[in-house]
Amino acid sequence: MRYISTRGQAPALSFEEVVLTGLASDGGLYVPEQIPQLSHDELAAMAGLSYAEIAFRVMQPFVNGEIDDDTFRGLVRDAYATFSHDAVVPLNQLDANHFLLEMFHGPTLAFKDIALQLLGRILDHFLAKRGERAVIMGATSGDTGSAAIEGCRHCDNLDIFILHPHNRVSEIQRRQMTTVQADNVFNIAIEGNFDDAQAMLKASFADQSFLKGTRLVAVNSINWARIMAQIVYYVAAGVALGAPHRQVSFCVPSANFGNVFAGYMAYRMGLPVKQFIIATNANDILHRTLADNDFSKQALKATLAPSMDIVVSSNFERLLFEAYERDGAAVAALLERFQSEPAALAEAPLARLRELFASYSVDDATILEVIREAHQRTKELLDPHTATGYRAAERVRADAATPMITLATAHPAKFAEAVVEAGFPGVPLPAHMDGLLEREERYTVLPADLAKVQAFVAENRR
Ligand SMILES: *Cc1c(COP(=O)(O)O)cnc(C)c1O
Repeated sequence: MRYISTRGQAPALSFEEVVLTGLASDGGLYVPEQIPQLSHDELAAMAGLSYAEIAFRVMQPFVNGEIDDDTFRGLVRDAYATFSHDAVVPLNQLDANHFLLEMFHGPTLAFKDIALQLLGRILDHFLAKRGERAVIMGATSGDTGSAAIEGCRHCDNLDIFILHPHNRVSEIQRRQMTTVQADNVFNIAIEGNFDDAQAMLKASFADQSFLKGTRLVAVNSINWARIMAQIVYYVAAGVALGAPHRQVSFCVPSANFGNVFAGYMAYRMGLPVKQFIIATNANDILHRTLADNDFSKQALKATLAPSMDIVVSSNFERLLFEAYERDGAAVAALLERFQSEPAALAEAPLARLRELFASYSVDDATILEVIREAHQRTKELLDPHTATGYRAAERVRADAATPMITLATAHPAKFAEAVVEAGFPGVPLPAHMDGLLEREERYTVLPADLAKVQAFVAENRR
């Protein structure tokens, strides 16, 4: 199994290389050259297996023997032992045929833990084997930073530096990052906004000379291993509800499109999926593209579902590559146009997407309404991201007979502000986060100055 670029011009890479590499050299994203298949019998045999065992079986073909089976099983088992629910991602039935897939039982209460718990372990394994060390740098306005820190805190060969905008992330989100006491974890509060942090990150990846030869690794969702880890829960949930003997549908609160693209991969591997619904907040590029063929950037809007606040959905390129029947040149041309002006998809690829995908956009007022309405009907308190999915699933599902699985991407306690705004008294943190508000914080405030930030990273890495 080799990995190829969505723009067709970069060299094919092995699994190990693709995990250690960010963007392809032609600006594209890496995808597997062939999509491994799960037969009817292989899916049927997964019924009743543990999440970790399903995870091993789904991911093993992508790893391609580059980690031996016993070692990989161990990494997978350790990654999912950090979750507080034995099912890892339990299904919660809301009504006759609508289910929530609870993806928030990991260390930081949002679904990014599922991929980052494993990615840290895979990176550490490859670095140990090569006798190398690496530096991870990330910029975060919320979820990714804390999930990456939790995923790397035990990694001997990695040092992680996460930039967040000083005084511009919620207290819970900041504390989830800054109270982790580990020698390889460094939080940097930038005196600037998220875009300043993002720009410094980009510059650091573009010119890594400040690290004097140490590898810089990205853990954002362009990393293939994150997509790979996310395929698993689609298969696990589908099998739990009757696949391969019957179809299921999924509704996915979406932003960078990593999550729903993983679902699409599960479908291409053989999971019988009737429909994927893409739910967005007011940052609706995915909905505008699917519904109106308006593939264009619009100004960023700050919403009640901040982990879905994006201008561009980077992983959508991976789906475009499939919709354009793997014509890398066509994808490159489309994305080049999109960079500078409003673009549109060609007719045939758009028609292909519309056979499987529907979309819906939910504004802030509706998010609050949905949180109240869902609680009244089901007694569940939804977080604002999940609320977009709940509404989208109701509005655009293809049929009532196919089980609809809405992905609950975060725990409501993590986004308590929205829940309080919807009229609830607040949400207690789960037991394993007891004391978060009293724990000692550790972070360094730095000016939005690239040279100072890079000097800090170079001096503090081990
Ligand atoms: C990151 C995130 C999303 C969006 O996921 P994508 O893979 O970027 O589409 C949705 N909800 C929550 C809570 C998130 O943290």
